[in-house]
Amino acid sequence: MSPPRPLRSRLSEGDLGPQPGPADAVAASDEAALVHDVLLAEPRGFCAGVDRAIEIVERALQRFGAPIYVRHEIVHNTYVVADLKAKGAIFIEDLAEVPPGATLVFSAHGVSRAVRAEADARGFHVFDATCPLVTKVHVEVAKLAKEGFEFIMIGHKGHPEVEGTMGQLGDGIYLVEDVADVARVRPRGHQLAVVTQTTLSVDDAAAILAEVKRVFPQVREPKKQDICYATQNRQDAIKLMAPQVDIVIVVGSPTSSNSNRLRELAERLGTPAFMVDAADDLRAEWFDGRPRVGLTAGASAPDILVQQVIARLKSLGALSVRRMAGVEETVHFPLPKGLGDKSMREFRASRS
Ligand code: SF4
Repeated sequence: MSPPRPLRSRLSEGDLGPQPGPADAVAASDEAALVHDVLLAEPRGFCAGVDRAIEIVERALQRFGAPIYVRHEIVHNTYVVADLKAKGAIFIEDLAEVPPGATLVFSAHGVSRAVRAEADARGFHVFDATCPLVTKVHVEVAKLAKEGFEFIMIGHKGHPEVEGTMGQLGDGIYLVEDVADVARVRPRGHQLAVVTQTTLSVDDAAAILAEVKRVFPQVREPKKQDICYATQNRQDAIKLMAPQVDIVIVVGSPTSSNSNRLRELAERLGTPAFMVDAADDLRAEWFDGRPRVGLTAGASAPDILVQQVIARLKSLGALSVRRMAGVEETVHFPLPKGLGDKSMREFRASRS
């Protein structure tokens, strides 16, 4: 039996997937004329950190065999997680679930120092799929903490990236989720720095940062903003796209922070927006009187899901699918050592 093809290599093959069920409120005979045009945001979908994280799990499975344990969802996408589970990955939240001697992968969101120390102490064979842009924030926090800084972290409570970054320190790091939270921060000393979750709304983060600077004028900002290039580019594309369409569809799972921010941004710009985990989630009535559809995907959503949504939009009448002009992303992150010497291209070819 030939080995399963890697997720990445299947993403651009135009697999149109399952067709819609009969549950839509608009009569089936009217559905075929609801959508006229589809505008595809550029860029959309996988970022370099997600691509790398998935490849780490796939390479670990190929090199060491199943099962491979993964702490937390490797990236926040239902399809990706199900696909890797089918190939032998076991997703856990607590390291107590991992047997001695197992191979363990940390998710793209990063982990606290306590989790890393526990994995070391228990002797797991660890591969770290933390996005290098999250690691950059961890390194900055550790470096400045040694110089005596405390931190304000702008982010969402309970998100694994926030837990990982805040967990780089025992204390002295204060979470703010909105402008009102800033006044509640009571630093003990005078050296204060600010860091942010990488997948925030650029505009919300700027408003919170302005309040932080107003309340703590001496605060130290990162040299380069922590919100990552992929988050920024996908939000910029929505800003261009939303005014040109009647409705925006974001492909992404409910747990995906950057996907949620894309939907919110389109709504803020006055365009109704819906997030779907898969094509089956689309409802025909959303498109009633909204023939121009904008389509994008969060950084953890694979292209196969976008292709399935396009197929569904065609069944709703879409005659043209037009790609917007946008930033071409060329970011690439190297893999950790110990996962084979094949280049990414050779590895994918060996699995196809
Ligand atoms: S969204 Fe940004 S920070 Fe998160 S994995 Fe992608 S590149 Fe890294």
